[in-house]
Amino acid sequence: MVDAVDDGCDCGKCFACGGECCKSFCIDICPPKDLDDFEDLKWYLFHKGVNVCLNKDGSWEVDTAIPCMHLDEKNGCRIYSERPPVCRDYTLEECEDEDYAEVFRAPEDIDAYVEKLRKEGKLKPGRIFK
Ligand code: SF4
Ligand code: SF4
Repeated sequence: MVDAVDDGCDCGKCFACGGECCKSFCIDICPPKDLDDFEDLKWYLFHKGVNVCLNKDGSWEVDTAIPCMHLDEKNGCRIYSERPPVCRDYTLEECEDEDYAEVFRAPEDIDAYVEKLRKEGKLKPGRIFK
């Protein structure tokens, strides 16, 4: 969470947002290269609260809707002065830039995407062509 006061920002976006960036975390994953990789993505989606996201720059990530244990009832950070670097380095610009090309919320979404690749001729048996 960006601290609107400490960071000299008075746009109020973090207060209005309610600390969304502290209620989940993302992990970068390797882009899927073949059908087995897509099956692995479906496995991520067997887990409740997990989304798989394709970013507009072509990178992929797993997004887990698990809140940080240090988020308080008012959506503030209990350890703000000692928060880890990943929180210190996160900027409002980064959060506003978050723009996904695709968000997969269920295994069926992956099947539909693979079918779309197949129809577009981007898939041959077992492989994706860039
Ligand atoms: S940095 Fe972005 S996601 Fe995080 S609290 Fe502020 S507006 Fe919300
Ligand atoms: S440590 Fe604080 S700023 Fe970082 S995710 Fe947790 S609540 Fe948010």
